Amino acid sequence: MHDLVIIGGGAAGLTAALTARKVNWNANITLISDEELHYSPCALPFVIAGEIDGFDKISESLVKICEENDIECIIDKAIDIDVVDKLVETEKGERLEYTSLILATGAKPIIPRINGIEKRGIFTLKTLEDAKRIDEYIEKCKRALVVGGSAIGVEIAVALKKRGLDVTLVEICDRLFSRAFDRDFSEEIEKKLRDNGIRILTNSKVKSFFGESRVRGAEIIIQDKEPMELETDMVVLGTGVRANIELAEKAGLKIEHNAIKVNGLMATSVKNIFAAGDCTHSLSLVTSKPMLSQLGTTAIRQGKVAGTNAVGGYATMEGVLNSLIVKIFDLEVGRTGLTEEDCKYEEIETIVGKAKTTTRAEYFPNSKEIKIKLIFNALNRRLVGAQVVGYGNKVSGMIDLLAFAIQRYAKIEELKNLKYCYTPPLSPAEHGIVTAAENAHRKLMRYIESRKRSF
Ligand SMILES: Cc1cc2nc3c(=O)[nH]c(=O)nc-3n(C[C@H](O)[C@H](O)[C@H](O)COP(=O)(O)OP(=O)(O)OC[C@H]3O[C@@H](n4cnc5c(N)ncnc54)[C@H](O)[C@@H]3O)c2cc1C
Repeated sequence: MHDLVIIGGGAAGLTAALTARKVNWNANITLISDEELHYSPCALPFVIAGEIDGFDKISESLVKICEENDIECIIDKAIDIDVVDKLVETEKGERLEYTSLILATGAKPIIPRINGIEKRGIFTLKTLEDAKRIDEYIEKCKRALVVGGSAIGVEIAVALKKRGLDVTLVEICDRLFSRAFDRDFSEEIEKKLRDNGIRILTNSKVKSFFGESRVRGAEIIIQDKEPMELETDMVVLGTGVRANIELAEKAGLKIEHNAIKVNGLMATSVKNIFAAGDCTHSLSLVTSKPMLSQLGTTAIRQGKVAGTNAVGGYATMEGVLNSLIVKIFDLEVGRTGLTEEDCKYEEIETIVGKAKTTTRAEYFPNSKEIKIKLIFNALNRRLVGAQVVGYGNKVSGMIDLLAFAIQRYAKIEELKNLKYCYTPPLSPAEHGIVTAAENAHRKLMRYIESRKRSF
């Protein structure tokens, strides 16, 4: 009998196992993983780009990590869950009886239905093996086509460019990162990519891939333009991921938004079964509506909550803000909470504060620009979202601070009064977040006046 069985050894599964061990020293914990190595998928584009010196640097034996933490590790694939007899069956024929079970089966890449998609030289980027295959194949290539203009598509496009390839990025929407950023921030990203020689085709869709067994090019349909043929030596698909819910569905767990339905304890609809990571759905901290997060940060937090609760502890998952940061060459772009477009969709009236600041005092050598956008709910003046673009390792700290401000229901006035530090070589005397909040405050005053006048 196993006190806790965990399926999946990625960010969510391993975090759940290590947390459960800390919460309950006596629990008998077993982790089943169909991959032998534990690694961060987030690091894969940077190994391909050559910024990290090899795949060995980002991966570690899962068995070794488990051994060091008194966790039994089985390298195998779970193929069935019997929720009545509380048994997990594996491909190699093991049958593991559990008291608690955590599903952390992650997500799978979405492969669009395009003629010729099966050709050699067309890749997805999800696993270490995918990345190794891409890394090897690049050596034979001069040109690359990336399909999909969100985080993975953009990161791999940058990596391929850094490896010296001629890169084209195709995006079906009218701009890149259309779900994560507002248009003004998408434009900053597109400009940076174009300035660094990446060709971007928006409003464009790959109709088919051509070539014998190996891909040689793609037929692309561009809205309001003639279709075009683009020659390429390789293709990487960055067309999103889908929660891996096969086992959960088969076991009869409730599914919502194509992911495993969980509550704030990360408990599923079946008693003593928990789930965490990309295979689950999340709740938006701002709207309280279900949403897919599918980020490493969320997987870790959910893994901690599931791991704690599965062995008799108590932890809760309040919701997510989908804070995200991407590095595009030297440009850093981050976001948290809702965008202005999300607010329109949610019918939230907004006040937007904007500011330009610098990475250090303006007069200091190598000072660079940072742009900040704060989105407030006009009715209660609370911060609901933020976007920051700039340089100098400044953006991630600002996004974390703004995410915390959203979490603590901070209002315009509170951000106007932010207490901060200053020294010319490290930061400007006026904090950009304060300046953006002041801008929002002036707009709020005008908004209040206009309402009085219209009465
Ligand atoms: C290229 C790339 C870059 C990314 N960059 C970022 C980033 O910068 N920041 C960020 O926050 N997020 C990023 N992400 C997302 C992040 O990596 C994922 O959200 C996170 O890895 C999810 O963790 P997980 O444990 O839920 O799933 P996974 O990491 O996918 O782990 C699931 C594991 O379960 C195993 N498994 C599945 N089914 C079974 C079974 N039946 N039996 C046994 N084992 C099974 C899988 O093989 C896998 O090893 C990136 C993702 C990719 C692909």
